Amino acid sequence: MVIDSLAFAASGGTRSGTLPAGRMQRLSDLIAGGGGEVGYELHGAVREGRPVLELKLAGSVPVTCQRCLGPMRWEFEFANRVRLARSEAEFDLADAEGEDAVEASESLDVDALVEDELLLNWPIAPRHDDAGCKEGNGAQGAGTRQPFAALRELASRAGPPRSATD
Ligand SMILES: [Zn+2]
Repeated sequence: MVIDSLAFAASGGTRSGTLPAGRMQRLSDLIAGGGGEVGYELHGAVREGRPVLELKLAGSVPVTCQRCLGPMRWEFEFANRVRLARSEAEFDLADAEGEDAVEASESLDVDALVEDELLLNWPIAPRHDDAGCKEGNGAQGAGTRQPFAALRELASRAGPPRSATD
């Protein structure tokens, strides 16, 4: 779905929907299985004279726990505002003021914008909470040592880790 971004902002437009996570090409290496959904709400507005898009995302996607390598779901809910930049100067200004910006377009791809925001907020190392994270979780064989767990064990035995050289 595409919008005329500046007109959308000027008119206070609203769009909402749900995207299947499996349809997002750039997430395909990060998602562990099917069934994830990404709900979004997009609002156009003009804030302090600047056209902006306000985006809220909520949903859950299947990912792999980086501690036990078992399956888990990443549940998320966040919001962001991006300015619509019409020139390099406006990109620079947004940058200087600590705001995100996207290029204003008459055919801005909403699905791609949603995917971008999800990628920007993707957890670096998703993990079960302690109760949900068990050795041998999921398809891992008994006795399999997972790298993070093994590292933590080493660290607790040997004191502070040496400076990382890998
Ligand atoms: Zn886990």
